[in-house]
Amino acid sequence: MILDLRDIATFPAEFAIESELDNNEYGIERVSFRDLMSLRLVIQKVQEDYYCQGTVTVPVEEECSRCLNIFDAELTGDLNFIIKTGEGKTETSATGEEDIVYIKPSEPVIDLHHLIRESLILSLPLKPLCDEDCRGLCPDCGVNLNEETCNCKREEDDERWEGLKSLLE
Ligand SMILES: [Zn+2]
Ligand SMILES: [Zn+2]
Repeated sequence: MILDLRDIATFPAEFAIESELDNNEYGIERVSFRDLMSLRLVIQKVQEDYYCQGTVTVPVEEECSRCLNIFDAELTGDLNFIIKTGEGKTETSATGEEDIVYIKPSEPVIDLHHLIRESLILSLPLKPLCDEDCRGLCPDCGVNLNEETCNCKREEDDERWEGLKSLLE
């Protein structure tokens, strides 16, 4: 996705773009896009720099970390970056501060691909869950306990340990 600053006549400029993300190109582990990505971006020019702020939202399928079922979710990430003109090297910040992107004066064009991908990765939950109360898989027989019950004897059901547990608490 290319942003060409020559196309912008007045600042602040506001964009709303919808675009299809290619699962292979964006390749985010355990996530697949199921619909268009929406990008909203506001660009403000301050002297020779461009301050860009926005959000990116995309419907996805994720894998539940407990039951391994695929479920529908939506990722929403922030975009915060400054475009500077010059020879510097693009800096990406892991600390939540703005990234800095450099452009050549002769070619004021940036590719948003990397920034969008990074923003979506940062928005991923560490342990995606299909439901807060997902019961997961039985560790013994592997059935999905949201869908069926099994006859495996689970430790937490074993009354002999209850006395010991309360001692430990
Ligand atoms: Zn689940
Ligand atoms: Zn079981």
